[in-house]
Amino acid sequence: MVTATVPGQQVKIGPTRLLINNEWVNSISDRRFETINPATGEVICEVAEADAADVDQAVQAARVAFNGEWSKISATRRGELLYKLADLIKQNIDELAHLETLDNGKPLQDSLGDLELVIACYRYYAGWADKVQGKTIPINGPYFCYTRHEPVGVVGQIIPWNFPLLMQAWKLAPALATGNTVVLKTAEQTPLSALRVGELIIEAGFPPGVVNILSGYGPTAGAAIARHKDIDKVAFTGSTEVGHLIMEAAAKSNLKRVTLELGGKSPNIVFADADMDAAIAGSHDAIFFNQGQCCCAGSRLFVEEKCYDEFVAKTVEKAQNRIVGNPFDAKTEQGPQVDKDQFDKVMSYIESGMREGAQMLCGGNQVGEQGFFIAPTVFADVRDDMKIAQEEIFGPVMSIIKFKDLDEVIQRANATMYGLAAAVWTKDITKAHAIANNLRAGTVWVNCYDVFDAAAPFGGFKQSGIGRELGEYGLQQYTEIKTVTIKL
Ligand code: NAP
Ligand code: MG
Repeated sequence: MVTATVPGQQVKIGPTRLLINNEWVNSISDRRFETINPATGEVICEVAEADAADVDQAVQAARVAFNGEWSKISATRRGELLYKLADLIKQNIDELAHLETLDNGKPLQDSLGDLELVIACYRYYAGWADKVQGKTIPINGPYFCYTRHEPVGVVGQIIPWNFPLLMQAWKLAPALATGNTVVLKTAEQTPLSALRVGELIIEAGFPPGVVNILSGYGPTAGAAIARHKDIDKVAFTGSTEVGHLIMEAAAKSNLKRVTLELGGKSPNIVFADADMDAAIAGSHDAIFFNQGQCCCAGSRLFVEEKCYDEFVAKTVEKAQNRIVGNPFDAKTEQGPQVDKDQFDKVMSYIESGMREGAQMLCGGNQVGEQGFFIAPTVFADVRDDMKIAQEEIFGPVMSIIKFKDLDEVIQRANATMYGLAAAVWTKDITKAHAIANNLRAGTVWVNCYDVFDAAAPFGGFKQSGIGRELGEYGLQQYTEIKTVTIKL
């Protein structure tokens, strides 16, 4: 058994090769790449590096499974397999949480929290497997007309590093429930936990070729998926920049279906009539959770003028008390950024905030001497046109912006190319509805933040994405509608 030693822990590593056709294989090129522990900067191990040739093999296996064994399996049986996978993940929850924390850097408590959502997601879609059905339609004339909801086919899925296990679940569960087969590429920073789930997928009894998991880089393996002529759909989560490339590649190859879950710059709006303690705690979590590495992070914090000074003072105090350090320590609230590139990118945004004249009230510095830890950072007096108010920072950096009234804040909150999420804190139900109805965002939270449930759809307006994940809506992205008309 391969293990990694971190302070006080031995973490089991699991598979490090590619999963193709239920077999663990080296890449055709035989190349491997290193994955790093972001808490120390040290190499954990090497994993096989897939590129276009391996994508081809995986697609072939997925196509054979789609046309063959998988298509003959009943919908009920697909549900049973997903329930079994959820049970196996539950049985191995501690091991998976440790692996996730080792490779990603997120606090162990957060990995365990993610895993509860992972298990719930597989179970939710397991329940749907035999409940996906069409309609009978009363068309004119002597005909019987009905629809069938059929699987799209071979699906390519490309996931990011911020929630490796959860993004794998959001992608695999609806695709498998509806009878598709999958070629999934993990992010280069976090290949390990998905491969361990691959072992559990085999153990659960999924036939060969139904799920193929490739570690590798975006411009090689990821791009090969996006342009592959025998992939029927690509589902991508990551940056808006790469989202554009995925869509272009789909357009230039075979018009494969495209769903995208991209970046955000989500407005989080605090009115003076809010429960102030709840708004302060909620706004803190909205930006600092997961080291700030959330597509839906509350990264533009609009605070009403009347409560601005009180809010800012208490918020800074809370940020200063956030516990940053060893992610395996149960008390830790914040771990390292995922890698050196992300660390550098976040630090450069902090410099830009200072340069453009925002007030840095705490943080701004690296924590410790090894790894990629950044102190929770609060900027106040941020203006809408500053880079830190416009671009996705993806780090523990809060930008507080002052506003005067409802109409003004709606207009300013919407002035972005993104539209993933938003939140409002108020006791006034009229204001809450005004925000919920008028913000151009896929999710609006009222007096809460980051409430996720497998049953509630999630996705973006504008350049935050195309399509929805989770819930019944999420299933629609994995089926084609077929109309059958019979002359009577
Ligand atoms: P990214 O490049 O968009 O990565 C997401 C996934 O896409 C990874 O699996 C990546 O592979 C792959 N990819 C990259 N280039 C590709 C290409 N040309 N064709 C196909 N697939 C490709 O994101 P990142 O570089 O890790 O992070 C950059 C920024 O993106 C972050 O700072 C953040 O602002 C945003 N982001 C958003 C989310 C989200 O949840 N919406 C998640 C992560 C990052 P590699 O692993 O090799 O890059
Ligand atoms: Mg890593």
